[in-house]
Amino acid sequence: MKAPIFVKIKDEDNVAIAVHEIKKGTEIMEGVTARHDIPQAHKIALCDIPKDQPVIRYGVVLGYAIEDIKQGDWINEFMLHLPTPPDVDNMTFATNLVTELPDPPVTTWEGYVNPWGGPAGTRNILGISTTVQCVTGVLNVAVDRMKKELLPKYPNVDDIVPINHAYGCGVAINAPEAKVPIRALRNLSKHPNFGGQLMVVGLGCEKFTVEMLCEEADITPENVIILQEKKGFDDMVNALMEMADKKLAILNERKRQTLPLSDLLIGMQCGGSDAFSGVTANPSAGYASDMLVKGGATVMFSEVTEVRDGVYLLAERCVNEEVGKKLAAEMKWYDNYLAEGEVDRSANPTPGNKKGGLANIVEKAMGSIAKSGTSPIVEVLSPAEKPSKKGLIYAATPASDIVCGPCQLASGIGLQVFMTGRGTPYGLAIAPVIKVCSRNEMKEQWPDLIDINAGPVATGEATIADIGTQLFMEIIDVASGRKKSFAEKYKLHNDLCIFNPAPIT
Ligand code: CA
Repeated sequence: MKAPIFVKIKDEDNVAIAVHEIKKGTEIMEGVTARHDIPQAHKIALCDIPKDQPVIRYGVVLGYAIEDIKQGDWINEFMLHLPTPPDVDNMTFATNLVTELPDPPVTTWEGYVNPWGGPAGTRNILGISTTVQCVTGVLNVAVDRMKKELLPKYPNVDDIVPINHAYGCGVAINAPEAKVPIRALRNLSKHPNFGGQLMVVGLGCEKFTVEMLCEEADITPENVIILQEKKGFDDMVNALMEMADKKLAILNERKRQTLPLSDLLIGMQCGGSDAFSGVTANPSAGYASDMLVKGGATVMFSEVTEVRDGVYLLAERCVNEEVGKKLAAEMKWYDNYLAEGEVDRSANPTPGNKKGGLANIVEKAMGSIAKSGTSPIVEVLSPAEKPSKKGLIYAATPASDIVCGPCQLASGIGLQVFMTGRGTPYGLAIAPVIKVCSRNEMKEQWPDLIDINAGPVATGEATIADIGTQLFMEIIDVASGRKKSFAEKYKLHNDLCIFNPAPIT
């Protein structure tokens, strides 16, 4: 089979993307000759596109030509006007509910039953929550000692993770939107991977009190340490060591069990996307997602600015009007949030996205949505909310990798699948991250950071179903603890950047 030199997605598309760099003068199809060197992943015009006429990819208007575009031209981000975003007040709901989904190759996995209820754990971790950044220095010293002196005694415990963050004091704690970071930290403190063991460290004078972080019944001397009540540094560290020792002993008794996929909750996000993301990595993730949903699992996808331009497609997949209305409300909230900062969704794409051939946010969004597969959307969540349903969930978080990650963790994901085109060594401490790249070159450059390569989809060496099935099995193996992803193996842990749309004082 001859490797393709360009990828055209829909019949009505008037552009295609270059699989490898296309040299000026190359005839890519009958009658279409490249008028410039077209960089890898960038767009070539398949016909003349007069000024103000639409540039179409994915069957969708990416934008309108600022000047006349000739057949064979390289189309870059400077050549398009952005279309107006879709109106969220007039969307149709539940008109595209797909029931034919691919069967999963397996229907069970090995996980830890969660004593708090909800999805099962994928790892066995002592999580130590904090109310405020002020305690971080002391806690980090104690955690270093715990890892050296205590963790080796408890071989069934995977790790000790402090939930350090920038919230807690100097914040407008009563502002309406303070509910977002508060909900995130409350839900993180009871993550499924923490095995029912709550451990909390507070300072004593902060605005975000232990009472706001914890349920009343959980506030006991067995669970909570307040540093201002201790007599100096040694007393603080000793108290932390003593509490951790007791909790680790309990966690060490946990065992994995064979569980149905309905006990699994995973998240999907992308970062450092390129124009291949939407044809290789994200559709493969969507295929794996459809298999998981068919098997009863729950899959969450997010990133508001990266679905905003295709939100009508998601509305059609919402199971009913109630879910669709929540989707519209979340989009409006985010439109306003961006407007307050005097920007709109066009502030999302990065220099790397553009270098990777993504002309604007519309093109990025159409690729981003592909990771949700075709399943119906059963629930829409505000950032850091926990799902109440099983199946495909949309959680309306920021797209920023390091903010989306903690939001999805707060929602209870036990694993995250991360699609990238340009490459990022991103990882999370609380749950393993599997990285999927969009191009063969990315895998060749970072063979020991990328877990799954979706590049062969572009070169015609594999199908979306092939890579999707491979990814599904990787998810099951990593979630079950039979395998570690590269980010987990090397302990690549980004900070927990908690989304705080409320003012700082
Ligand atoms: Ca992202």
